[in-house]
Amino acid sequence: MLVVMDKNATPAQVEAVVAKVESLGFAAQPMPGGERVAVAILRNPGPVDPSLFLDMPGVLQAIPVTRPYKLVSREVKREDTILHLADGVELGRGRFVVMAGPCAVESEIQALTIAARVKASGAQVFRGGAYKPRTSPYSYQGLGKAGLKILQKVRQETGLLIVTEAVDHDSLKLVAEYADIIQIGARNMQNFTLLRRAGQLGKPVLLKRGMYATLEEWFMAAEYIMAEGNPQVVLCERGVRAIGEHARNLLDLATVPAVRRESHLPIMVDPSHAAGRRDLVSPLARAAVAAGCDGLLIEVHHEPEKAMSDGAQSLYPDQFDQLMRDIQTLRPGGWN
Ligand code: PEP
Ligand code: MN
Repeated sequence: MLVVMDKNATPAQVEAVVAKVESLGFAAQPMPGGERVAVAILRNPGPVDPSLFLDMPGVLQAIPVTRPYKLVSREVKREDTILHLADGVELGRGRFVVMAGPCAVESEIQALTIAARVKASGAQVFRGGAYKPRTSPYSYQGLGKAGLKILQKVRQETGLLIVTEAVDHDSLKLVAEYADIIQIGARNMQNFTLLRRAGQLGKPVLLKRGMYATLEEWFMAAEYIMAEGNPQVVLCERGVRAIGEHARNLLDLATVPAVRRESHLPIMVDPSHAAGRRDLVSPLARAAVAAGCDGLLIEVHHEPEKAMSDGAQSLYPDQFDQLMRDIQTLRPGGWN
């Protein structure tokens, strides 16, 4: 249920609705909109009687929410969410953001070299894992805290914002200290305690789609973050398990318009982890932009043949630069 307040409702009237919801044993989350505040009722096991609220001062409407996800849903919030990243960078409808960099932070010189190139090509955010969730325990696991310190240096030297992945509760605390955007990877999309904690830190969260996740499961994962009071979530499609060997995963571009229809959250695309091969990345990225996504996450490496992880799918900086030019023409009106 969504209790929609009148345009002129006072903060005290909103508070009274919140108190009423809590007195019923449910949770309430006020959601300020462009014109009016709405109060979402959460944790109610069944339908709530609208007449409990309709007579309260300042209440305009009480609308049942039919979807299992509430805060994520366009039923609850019609306007597109714009994420306010650090340094005035915005992400969301009409505010396109490119995040680029290596799969993993390997050394200071590696990170700074790649960062300078992706910045020159127009990326606003640097990506690079300090904690790597690897399929094999024998594969490179990342530099950990030392990697975060390198990312901090990248930020200081280039002004690029930082997105990096947290893989568990310990790394989450550190990532939140160093990163501008916390990445939750495909393998952790349903790590519910991690999602809750990520929702408590007050930093934007980039939530990858799990490799077997339906749209509804993905939305419910975002709901975990938002239910902790953090509305700053961006979804990122990165491909799902598929048949055939021609690509690592199947990039599901139908999610771009489908997410747009069902949710107000921004939707990004990561063609790199879908492709698994460098030659597929730019065509998929162009298709994602044409489909209307709000941003791209792209792996770039200056020496991919020496990369500690995902070298085969990392673009050379020149290829990334060409891609950035190509997508300009796909976005009439430029970047924003
Ligand atoms: C990554 O972006 O570095 C990554 C591991 O991606 P995913 O979680 O989509 O596999
Ligand atoms: Mn990778």
